[in-house]
Amino acid sequence: MHLRLQIALLVGTFCSVQSFVIKTSNKSSADNAGDLVKDEDFSVSSLLERANINVGKGRSDPLVMFGDIAVDPELKNADPCTARGCLWPRATDGKVYVPFRISNQYSARERNTIMQALASFASSTCIRFIPLDRQRDFVNIQSRSGCFSFVGRRGRAQVVSLSRQGCVFNSVIQHELLHALGFNHEQQRSDRDSNVRILLENVEPGQESNFRKIQTINLGTPYDYNSVMHYGRFAFSRNRQPTILPIPDNNAVIGRATQMSTQDISRINLLYRCSECR
Ligand SMILES: [Zn+2]
Repeated sequence: MHLRLQIALLVGTFCSVQSFVIKTSNKSSADNAGDLVKDEDFSVSSLLERANINVGKGRSDPLVMFGDIAVDPELKNADPCTARGCLWPRATDGKVYVPFRISNQYSARERNTIMQALASFASSTCIRFIPLDRQRDFVNIQSRSGCFSFVGRRGRAQVVSLSRQGCVFNSVIQHELLHALGFNHEQQRSDRDSNVRILLENVEPGQESNFRKIQTINLGTPYDYNSVMHYGRFAFSRNRQPTILPIPDNNAVIGRATQMSTQDISRINLLYRCSECR
């Protein structure tokens, strides 16, 4: 009896230290640089661009800016969101539970793809997407006019739009959920100018805001061309010329991730202090 009590105390004293198995492949970095526009067809930014032709035009859609970021019209000049306290809360067991609801608009197959992407966060981070059960704040996954998400926790139901026409891919789902967790695009990082050159002269008029720099919190992590949050080199090009050029190696592969990179995973773990107790 006494021994059992001691064990219980020990278990209660130490929260479980999680060792994360980072499951990513480095395939894309071994690929050739792929300067051809056709090679970009499955980059996250190409998928977003194609799916978002009519984004924000649905009657109940929020204002969508910077490619796929939903904003409240009155908040469009707000500071980067983690400074507003928009992280999802950590539970006492050290995990971060993010309730979700998936609309019944999806086919069984699409729903399964979404569920797998949600589950992918659990294998390498302390984020746990859990089915909504009366919690107040949750992500409401719906097929609206394109692929978009708010940045960070917004309070109450927040839409993550994954249109059935072009957004139900693992890379895009992880990308939009990373926005909902508080992350911005990689090429908008505060230190991006030492890593990429933005060629605004090649950007479609009206799309310049996609390349606006943000005072991001970089958590000491290096700039990452292989992030699922990095756009491809021809993103929003008006003339099939590059809009993002990696520097100093102009031939480096950028924006071709098909899943979260090792750095994407590290950043979640840092931002949410996944390996710390309480
Ligand atoms: Zn995005």
